[in-house]
Amino acid sequence: MKTNTALRRIGILTSGGDAPGMNAVIRAVTRTAHHHGISVLGIKRGYNGLIHGDVVELDSQSVNGLITRGGTILYTARCPEFNTEEGLKKAADTVRYLGIDGLIVAGGDGTLRGGLDISRLGVNVVGIPCTIDNDVGCTHYTIGFDSACNTAVEAIDRLRDTMQSHERCSIVEVMGRSAGHLALYVAIACGASAVLVPELPFDFEKDIAEKIRKGRIRGRSHHLIIVAEGVAGISHLGEQIKDATGMDPRVTILGHIQRGGMPTARDRVTASRMGEVAVKALVDDKKNRVITMFKSEMQEIDIEEALAMKKDLQPSMLEAAYVLTQS
Ligand code: ADP
Repeated sequence: MKTNTALRRIGILTSGGDAPGMNAVIRAVTRTAHHHGISVLGIKRGYNGLIHGDVVELDSQSVNGLITRGGTILYTARCPEFNTEEGLKKAADTVRYLGIDGLIVAGGDGTLRGGLDISRLGVNVVGIPCTIDNDVGCTHYTIGFDSACNTAVEAIDRLRDTMQSHERCSIVEVMGRSAGHLALYVAIACGASAVLVPELPFDFEKDIAEKIRKGRIRGRSHHLIIVAEGVAGISHLGEQIKDATGMDPRVTILGHIQRGGMPTARDRVTASRMGEVAVKALVDDKKNRVITMFKSEMQEIDIEEALAMKKDLQPSMLEAAYVLTQS
């Protein structure tokens, strides 16, 4: 039963950095909305589409087969105009003009903050955290993280074969401008010799050189160093390693391939559940929420409270990485 009987049309947009699973969110939102007799407008290119009224009707058929596809069929963009008072007002006017009774925004921290801003102009917003960085404070998990980890691990496993054969040291940069969650998971999953994250300072001698030397004494002939892209002071890391150990490191930047590809089962299921819960929140007449995941349970919390929450790297993961890179 619909509690909010006035809810006739939902809008959905994907914004900021794309993440595998965004399409699965679009599908879940569309299917759930139709189940409740609500129509869905897909808004193209994030908040840009809202400002310019660039929308497409999403019927049940238009989301067929979407669950397996990476990227986002609604496109995504960054929209500086939305951060101006005028742009924000235009976007809110478009919502009213199009008869959108509830707006679902899928993206990272910036996208959710955009959601909070437009909610202050009377638009009812539900946010769904989607980012490969897993750096949204209010949730243990963000859609896309597992897929990105698996993509990075697969690429690094290939690299390892060639590095092992040549007995080389490999420095691999993974995404994460201000958060090291991805780097930490990937380092543990790949059996790295060292990992550097933006949240923690590093000491070259103790955190890298010494580990490589100790590893060599124990018979390790190749070394993998995982570095998150936001780590400062690493422009000469290769030369430093060469000077300190005599090894000739190769640098690989995984870059945007980490964002692409089919979502994993975990991301498909999380996206499906979050999409369903987001529509249900609107149906239940909840106002301005973010869908979050604590342990494996879905919750929806007030968007303002959600965005005030902070998340650090898990101490147990740091401990595991510390212990396991001592070889
Ligand atoms: P992500 O959602 O992946 O974090 P961005 O930070 O680029 O990506 O944000 C996507 C869009 O959300 C921006 O282009 C802008 O329109 C909006 N946005 C970002 N940060 C804010 C903010 N602090 N307040 C309001 N809107 C924001």
